[in-house]
Amino acid sequence: MRLNIFGKYVPVVYKDLTGEDSDKMAYYDSEDQVIYVDSPNKDDLNLLCHEIVHAMRDRLHIQMDDGLEEQLAQNVADVITDNFNLSLKHE
Ligand SMILES: [Zn+2]
Repeated sequence: MRLNIFGKYVPVVYKDLTGEDSDKMAYYDSEDQVIYVDSPNKDDLNLLCHEIVHAMRDRLHIQMDDGLEEQLAQNVADVITDNFNLSLKHE
């Protein structure tokens, strides 16, 4: 999958993230400009929305405090997946 984020196609790559950075289920790599998602979580739209916000901030070169960026990314993800019946999170 490739996502058009402000005119650049950002690939979404599924891979096994265990052992790499064990507390992460997904991350946006600003150097590669790639979103990596842990394979078992590949259908988790909330995770993907969260990483899309990181990619958007990076593409727009917006400087932001890390904590604030995490809050923004998670709130956008939650607003989308919790209110449009899209959440694939296991209850
Ligand atoms: Zn994040």
